[in-house]
Amino acid sequence: MAKPIREPRATKIVATIGPRAETGGELVRLLSAGVDVVRLNGAHCRPGDIARRVALVRSAEKALGRPVGVLLDLGGPKIRVGPIEGDTTAWEAGDAVEIVPGHAMGSGRTISVTYPALLSEVAPGAEIRIADGLIRLKVERRERGALRARVLAGGTVRKGAGVNLPSSALSAPAVTPKDRRDLREGLEAGIQFVGLSFVRSVDHVKALRRLLAAAPAERRPWIVSKIERVEAVRALREIAAASDVLMVARGDLGVEIGLAAVPGVQRAILAVGREKAVPVIVATQMLESMVENPVPTRAEVSDVAGAVHDGADAVMLSGETAVGAHPIEAVRTMDEIARVAEAQRPVAIEATERSATGADHTPVVCDMAVVAARRAGARAMVVYTASGRTARLLSKEGTRLPIVAITSSEEVRRRLTILRNVVSYRIPASSSVEEMIASGDAVLRAHGLAGATVVEVSGAAALEGATNTVRIRTLRPAAR
Ligand code: PEP
Repeated sequence: MAKPIREPRATKIVATIGPRAETGGELVRLLSAGVDVVRLNGAHCRPGDIARRVALVRSAEKALGRPVGVLLDLGGPKIRVGPIEGDTTAWEAGDAVEIVPGHAMGSGRTISVTYPALLSEVAPGAEIRIADGLIRLKVERRERGALRARVLAGGTVRKGAGVNLPSSALSAPAVTPKDRRDLREGLEAGIQFVGLSFVRSVDHVKALRRLLAAAPAERRPWIVSKIERVEAVRALREIAAASDVLMVARGDLGVEIGLAAVPGVQRAILAVGREKAVPVIVATQMLESMVENPVPTRAEVSDVAGAVHDGADAVMLSGETAVGAHPIEAVRTMDEIARVAEAQRPVAIEATERSATGADHTPVVCDMAVVAARRAGARAMVVYTASGRTARLLSKEGTRLPIVAITSSEEVRRRLTILRNVVSYRIPASSSVEEMIASGDAVLRAHGLAGATVVEVSGAAALEGATNTVRIRTLRPAAR
């Protein structure tokens, strides 16, 4: 009997790296522990960091012998506390404080905040949250170029701390001038995913797509819309339909909508991802205690397993791998939790019935393929994919069968690293569909599928949108 094809973990792991990844073999060790996608946090990248780190991932890929995706997470219009004399100031509940827009030196009861439209867009009654929401202020009035506010929850205010304005309608563009520079560097270096922070409407996603249109199709990254503002939660369906991937960015989301609301919104985002066939990354503080400790808490293990059971396509590590004391252990821990969770319980990713969109029948073909695989008792699904899109649609069908994606492009293989349950192989570019399938068969046989029944999704041509065929086949052993 042919041996089963090896698909040890369906859920993918995204790991954030920082400067430490550039030191002696650290990146290869991290990736070997089970990372599928490397995340670069644009907010902390200086010119040259992105190019250098992408190049490092590419050389690590060679050592590993498998593709690794790179997600450049643009910092977006993150608002911060400006400079403060002595770097900090301490506020207590009940204090009357003054907030000015810009970068002026703060001290005592006055600080600056790096949002130019602060005075026009933050009205009396609005809340200002500082340092992950630890410090909370209520705006009482606008006066002489400043917001006068009352401290609701006090603490030490540090220069550079994050500021959230959850109850204010903001006009900041989703892509800042620094983001544009980072994106340029990322596109040249060869990223596969671009994270859009603080998305508030579908127009932000469309604006980024317009910026990406100048890049050649094969090097055009998939857009990861980060859901972290209340406006994005409200416009979830529209944003999902315009995005390639969604991220539950629980750090800022928790500050913006309140921690208690995050689990329910996470499930809603996973459900919309399923409905719109868009993969979802669950992010932030998944194994936070491992920044310091070599083992996670029970609650963290439950959080990761819960995300897997709810159908997350990928789970993400941030500080745990970027600056933590136990980065390799964090990846290994996540790998183990995901694998055990997948084995213990069928993942809740029942498919939604899909209809054709215009002349594009790919969603229907993928839907039918999963039904065929179930009824035929297939061992694997095979998908020929030119841009990665058909593999993405099939991955969101919720089959527990391994999905083997076959493509002639190494770039496309790198994109497929985010897709649940997908393994990919490369074949040479073919001049006909028959030649493409013959090359694919050789790959499948080499990976233990000779003699197995598979369901194959392909198209009349190796082009995006041309997918129109579902075939059930029992792969003959290679002719001698
Ligand atoms: C988050 O807020 O959870 C997040 C992923 O974004 P960042 O780490 O860029 O703040």
